[in-house]
Amino acid sequence: MSVTQIKNYIGGELHEPGSGDYLDNVNPAIGQVYSQVPNSHIDDIDAAVDAAEAAFSKWARKSQAERSTILRRVADLVDRDRDRLVTAESDDNGKPLRLARAVDIPRVAANIRFYAGIAEGFSSESYAMPRGINYVLRQPLGVVGIISPWNLPLYLLSWKIAPALAMGNCVIAKPSEITPMTAYLFSELCIEAGMPPGVLNIVHGSGATTGDAMLTHPGIKAISFTGGTQTGEHIARTVAPQFKKFSLELGGKNPIVIFEDCEYEKMMETTLQSSFANQGQICLCGSRVLVERSMYERFVDDFVERSRKMRVGDPHEQSSDLGAVVSQPHQQKILGCIETAKQEGGQLHCGGGPAEPGGRCADGFFVQPTVFTGLATDSQTNQQEIFGPVVTIQPFDDEKHAAELANSTKYGLAASVWTSDIGRGHRMAEWIDSGVVWVNCWMIRDLRTPFGGMKASGLGREGGMESLRFFTEPKNVCVKY
Ligand code: NDP
Repeated sequence: MSVTQIKNYIGGELHEPGSGDYLDNVNPAIGQVYSQVPNSHIDDIDAAVDAAEAAFSKWARKSQAERSTILRRVADLVDRDRDRLVTAESDDNGKPLRLARAVDIPRVAANIRFYAGIAEGFSSESYAMPRGINYVLRQPLGVVGIISPWNLPLYLLSWKIAPALAMGNCVIAKPSEITPMTAYLFSELCIEAGMPPGVLNIVHGSGATTGDAMLTHPGIKAISFTGGTQTGEHIARTVAPQFKKFSLELGGKNPIVIFEDCEYEKMMETTLQSSFANQGQICLCGSRVLVERSMYERFVDDFVERSRKMRVGDPHEQSSDLGAVVSQPHQQKILGCIETAKQEGGQLHCGGGPAEPGGRCADGFFVQPTVFTGLATDSQTNQQEIFGPVVTIQPFDDEKHAAELANSTKYGLAASVWTSDIGRGHRMAEWIDSGVVWVNCWMIRDLRTPFGGMKASGLGREGGMESLRFFTEPKNVCVKY
């Protein structure tokens, strides 16, 4: 098998890392190295920051329409190359092709067009006063850093790159070293679209080497990060004393709260998705299913029966509901969490081990959809993010008890509530501590809405105007006349 060598995108060109240092990149569905990714060092980050600083004043001074036009050209090329990007995302991450085709890659183009559009309509506040006026100038920050995870690789990277560029910043972006391929293909599309050199730089490498070099670089004025809570803590500790602006989108342990009066079929179908979509590796997946006691047994029976029927298989096959998890270490981590759940006294209803689809995927890293009951609220399994196809089910007695269980972890990213009682839906939304609450749905994303987590799930919000505000510095100008 030929091994592609990924390159950094710096100053409008594709470059090898200065050190010549590369890391292997594995296709997790087949368990084989299929590309190599630069492990960039500080000199590569220096070069990217120099290129971005050189490009900044010209990019920031372009009209909004000019910047948005370039972004839309990139989105058009993403649409043109959709099939290639879909296959690359699936091969890099292990996700089913049909998920990458339905969600990941269309969302990349949608993210870019959305921010190109709302930046054109962006306005800032003004406050009239007797014989005077205050107005708020929102200026780009300069060179900003973007660090993103492996679960929705290009989707999450574009969600940050687009608003930063639309508002006139220049960007140094580091995708996860585990899933670098679509970001590399994206850099080729940016060159083709005529993105001015240095405006966007994509520098590949590990968190410890490349990521850390970004955090401490004096030329990088802000860090927008999506990833795990522990990495988020490290980032906060490192960048806060430098007074850099930062935003953190972190982990979750999301509750799905189900009342007996819900629309059962719709709830069941959606809860299967919220549990196992992308092999449970979406920060918004519901990993704690809380069910009203009066329907608990019926729910457990039905949910387990349907979970057993979910097909774990080759991501390229249309019939696969779940593909591979992202890597062998991650598969081992998930299997370790399953062992912990057993030791904690959990009752295993289905799954509980690796899946073996055979054929082309005989050496791949797969995990069966796994369901536990009988675990204490304060068990490790109910407290720690697993980020795999593993869910627990717990019964609750009433609304207060449901809210108490929902709020019983350190996280607060997302929650779903299923009920036909509209008042109850609103009450639960008020009581649950999380950045997003869905009532009778899951993962519906209106790009205009604020997105982010409470507690250990993050700091700050992205989405819509929130992202445009993050990537600008507000300056109040007071004029007397
Ligand atoms: P990590 O925190 O391990 O990594 C995220 C990114 O940070 C990667 O690019 C990683 O690089 C980089 N990184 C790691 N260490 C450092 C460091 N010391 N300095 C700078 N950068 C660093 O998360 P995962 O990639 O494992 O992603 C899964 C996590 O992301 C889950 O916890 C999930 O909940 C969370 N997530 C949150 C979302 C949200 O919106 N709240 C959305 C999606 C995921 P590398 O991998 O190359 O080493």
